[in-house]
Amino acid sequence: MQVESSPAQVTQFSRAARQSGRSIGVVPTMGALHAGHLSLIECARRDCDTVMTTIFVNPTQFGPQEDFAKYPRTLDADLELCRAAGSDLVFTPKTESMYAADARTTVRVAGLTDVLEGASRPGHFDGVTTIVAKLLNVTEPDRAYFGRKDYQQQLVIRRMVRDLDFAVEVITCPTIREPDGLALSSRNRYLSAAERETALQISRTLRDAVESAKSGVNPPQVAAAMRNRLLAVPGLELDYCEVADGDSLSPADTAAENAVALIAARVGTTRLIDNEILTFR
Ligand code: AMP
Repeated sequence: MQVESSPAQVTQFSRAARQSGRSIGVVPTMGALHAGHLSLIECARRDCDTVMTTIFVNPTQFGPQEDFAKYPRTLDADLELCRAAGSDLVFTPKTESMYAADARTTVRVAGLTDVLEGASRPGHFDGVTTIVAKLLNVTEPDRAYFGRKDYQQQLVIRRMVRDLDFAVEVITCPTIREPDGLALSSRNRYLSAAERETALQISRTLRDAVESAKSGVNPPQVAAAMRNRLLAVPGLELDYCEVADGDSLSPADTAAENAVALIAARVGTTRLIDNEILTFR
């Protein structure tokens, strides 16, 4: 496995792979890797001849009050995990080589980024789309892999890829959970044992929403039940809890068939997000 911090070297690696007829997959991450990230690498490994993982804690997607400085950085362990999962190259760029001091270009997907995570974290998605556009340009993959855990993110990236004619297929992989349901997240390591127990209410509420939808409860009723339940959990501060159309992210109405339930909440100082696809009868 090659570890490379130079964008030009990574592009060269990708072009050499393509010239020898190999298909290329890329898995963008911010490191602090866990089984969720590894499932994306494994998915890419199955589909593609050459797999690149990128590890970059992207400053432009963090707000001024967010956890950029204290975001976990575990590069040595990450590289071992990438190697074991079958990555051929890991791209670990320096901030200076991704952002010129006089950079003036931002990629912005309008509309979809105004709601949910976008409403709570102004500018977050502009940082995400700009860095993902840059990483796709550097790595020139056939396929790029993202987790459904960040539902809105993969939707925004799909829209960017379509609108800007990136020649890449976006693949969304299922959310990997702990046996008790907690969605894996690099931020879970901040949770105390008691906070972790509180955080479990998020995935439990989502699981019950899946069942309610199946049993004929309509989307606004499911959303209201989820909200009422979470608002009553001590130690959990609800940011949003919505049942939204799976494509537009507008609130799902009573006629919706395919929708997604999305939750963001703070437990202690840790902000967690999770979601489940709902199928209504
Ligand atoms: P991050 O390092 O948090 O930026 O995440 C990198 C990629 O891993 C994103 O596409 C995430 O959606 C994905 N990811 C994070 N957690 C999980 C999980 N529990 N299951 C599946 N994918 C995940």
